[in-house]
Amino acid sequence: MEKLSNYINGAYLAPVDLKYFDNFDPSTGEVYCLIPDSDEQDLDLAITAAESAFPIWSSMSAEERSKILIRFSEGIEKRMEEFVAAESKDNGKPITLARHVDIPRAVSNFHFFATAILHFASESHYMEGVGINYTTRKPIGIVGCISPWNLPLYLFTWKIAPALAAGNCVIAKPSEITPYTATLLGEIATEAGLPAGVLNILNGKGSQIGDAIVRHPKVKAISFTGGTATGEHIARTAAPMFKKLSLELGGKNPTIIFDDCDFEDALTTTVRSSFANQGQICLCGSRIFVQKGIYEKFKNAFIEKINKSIVSYPQDPKAHLGAIVSEQHMEKVLSYIQLAKEEGGQIRTGGNRVFLPAPHDKGYYLAPTIIEGLPYDCRTNQEEIFGPVVTISVFETEEEVLAAANSTKYGLASSVWTTNLKKAHRVADQLDMGIVWINAWLVRDLRTPFGGVKASGVGREGGWEALRFFTEAKNIFVKVD
Ligand code: NDP
Repeated sequence: MEKLSNYINGAYLAPVDLKYFDNFDPSTGEVYCLIPDSDEQDLDLAITAAESAFPIWSSMSAEERSKILIRFSEGIEKRMEEFVAAESKDNGKPITLARHVDIPRAVSNFHFFATAILHFASESHYMEGVGINYTTRKPIGIVGCISPWNLPLYLFTWKIAPALAAGNCVIAKPSEITPYTATLLGEIATEAGLPAGVLNILNGKGSQIGDAIVRHPKVKAISFTGGTATGEHIARTAAPMFKKLSLELGGKNPTIIFDDCDFEDALTTTVRSSFANQGQICLCGSRIFVQKGIYEKFKNAFIEKINKSIVSYPQDPKAHLGAIVSEQHMEKVLSYIQLAKEEGGQIRTGGNRVFLPAPHDKGYYLAPTIIEGLPYDCRTNQEEIFGPVVTISVFETEEEVLAAANSTKYGLASSVWTTNLKKAHRVADQLDMGIVWINAWLVRDLRTPFGGVKASGVGREGGWEALRFFTEAKNIFVKVD
């Protein structure tokens, strides 16, 4: 069986202890490769490599670094279909999604930050008659990038690209559930001419190698995307060491649909925003609030569309939904469907596991599920489920829907549907979220600040925000007379 490796100091290495654990194909429930169970010994190798690479990489000009990162982007693009197939198999997502979203976005992440760094200028503040301040921004040193399983290469590269562009050396850990494409990235790094030790990719368990990265005193900053509980643990560990922290955490996003929306647009987009990637996108809208005037019409049309969704194995080009990422996660989602029933929710469609014919009969498939009749403050409507499960509720007034939308501990993203411009701005302004889409969902401009408020995280990624995070500012003042 294939054994994945760690990528350390420009070479693929087995874990020091030669320990591995299973990687499952969620579409079949079968083990298909083995993952290094890395620990501190592997981390020490990566730290030593990164320490010696840092003076080389950080002293290269931005132009030189940019050229190498452009080659990363081209390297992934050239092997697009290989990455697409690997991502779809490892995660269970429909191959069409990996082809149109995940891997193209990994390509753009490198391209975007390779060019952004060329425009990242230092600031200057002139004090009339007194002097001039100028602010330099230097790379931090060794930084840790830890990413989740839902958009594996997409989110892994979203962190690594700005960290490298800014001149840092990186110790990166993909999720143990989806390590495959991150591991392939090592080959791209070597082909792109990245100096050895600049990027080190360690596979293993979050509780072991992830935790070791967070605790290591030589790792000066942690960029983390994942669950809120893990984020809290990381903050507790890293804060006393005064590490820079960027935490992109969970969400419970509202989709707000007013009577005066463009009905067809709202309907089609809400199908995507609810169930894309089996609902396993941190930006998916899992609480749908529809105004009274169109509630019944919208609900029926929505259910009708969802009933036509095809749940199939990831390689099926007709699949709208693929497999849930792991058995454990599928069980968690099913337990929330059970909770919803106990809380009085009516399952309008779905609510069950789907069994496909062999060889996918042991795969982890769930029917897209719509639940009606739950109050906004019940657990089903307050806790993150992160699967193909949405609730739908009726509202009458703006005040009422804003109170419900803002009622969770999360504050990541929201979609608002209305053709009334003033109302759109007013509602967007009052939503406690880091991101609001008006008459849209998941339209991403990589220059914009990305992140959430409340328990959805601390800090912002994207554009200058990411480059600022991965650099330390120093202000220098010069007296003029
Ligand atoms: P987890 O928090 O379980 O894991 C995220 C990453 O952290 C994984 O690589 C994991 O490794 C690692 N990890 C786990 N424990 C530790 C630890 N103690 N120290 C250091 N690293 C650790 O999240 P999931 O992978 O389950 O991802 C789903 C979550 O991510 C959802 O809550 C979702 O909302 C959120 N998310 C947020 C986004 C945002 O931008 N705000 C975007 C995408 C997802 P391992 O897998 O090996 O355990």
